[in-house]
Amino acid sequence: MTTQVETALRGPEAFAMARKALIDMEAAGVWPTPLNFELWLHYIGDPEGPLGKEMSRLLASSDPFTEGTSEMLAAEYLPRGRLSDEIRDVGAVLNRELSSMSDAIAHAKKSQAAYGVTLADASASIEKVAQPEDLREVVSGLSDATTRIQKENSALESRLDASTKEVARLREHLEQVRRDAMTDALTNLANRKAFDEELLRACEVADANKSTVCLAVLDIDHFKRFNDTWGHQTGDQVLRYVASVIGRVAKSPRVAARYGGEEFAIIFANESTAMVEVALNRIRQEIGARSLRRRSTNDDLGAVTISAGLAQRHPGESGSSLLDRADGALYVSKRNGRNLVTNAENVAEAA
Ligand code: GH3
Ligand code: MG
Ligand code: MG
Repeated sequence: MTTQVETALRGPEAFAMARKALIDMEAAGVWPTPLNFELWLHYIGDPEGPLGKEMSRLLASSDPFTEGTSEMLAAEYLPRGRLSDEIRDVGAVLNRELSSMSDAIAHAKKSQAAYGVTLADASASIEKVAQPEDLREVVSGLSDATTRIQKENSALESRLDASTKEVARLREHLEQVRRDAMTDALTNLANRKAFDEELLRACEVADANKSTVCLAVLDIDHFKRFNDTWGHQTGDQVLRYVASVIGRVAKSPRVAARYGGEEFAIIFANESTAMVEVALNRIRQEIGARSLRRRSTNDDLGAVTISAGLAQRHPGESGSSLLDRADGALYVSKRNGRNLVTNAENVAEAA
């Protein structure tokens, strides 16, 4: 449901939705903060969804709609809630780091200025020196001031050094958070969000370079029956196994993802449908040929099979239309007995 709203926000009704969001927020007496704006867009896009229903309930109640309310809703219902939390945390640490760094720099500036004054004073005193002892006093004062400033400089240097390291660590952490947000935790393949982005990008590249994109969708056969017989946990092991075969065959620059529960998808850029069919049949045969064993009990689980559908993108075709056609081909594989690969081209011919 949320991806549906996100798609709508890139479509023709996006501006109308944004305007309505602002008007509705004003009517509800809610500030148009970025977070509230995002909430209201989802509310308008899908008023009957879980977020929509909860917001209707909250707005109808007499409870004030506070920043806390927004954050609670975002964490619970917005797809990137967890990610933005992490980013907020990293942002806060970064802010602290930067402000302590600028304090250290301001302090160093003051010390440098004081040192300048000491030097100027010394130079004035030297002009008035009558006795050698007076000179010694001026020089020793200067030497103290120099030692002080050297110490401060080296303290500043280590402070900056520590900050640079901390910023590098934060950057790495953010990169990890970004990777996690794009990865399916069970199989380690790309998740649906990452895949949708990759598909969009692949379509843009294909249009720019007049090149081709093939999309394949793969689905485990009778997986419900498998789960019912062996349990969900063993089912998860099978998902991991299937994903590992898919990931091995569909290595970069191919992009493989877990698209949904037991469905996978692969993007093939600049490969003929013949090459794509070879890759898909390799996956299909490799998975189907292996008799699986349950790790905990060593039970023989037999083999699972997969069905696949592929479609080559027409020039200018959207990702979702391509996906629909690949899905149609997958459906034909299922209808024709499963453990098959079907090319959408042949589906069109048969129809
Ligand atoms: P078909 O051959 O037509 O694809 O039959 P199917 O039973 O695989 O298809 P269906 O779509 O009816 O069922 C998909 C099943 O996949 C339902 C659910 O039991 C299982 N499934 C979905 N996600 C997961 C998951 O994350 N883990 C496990 N273990 N099973 C899952
Ligand atoms: Mg399915
Ligand atoms: Mg299935």
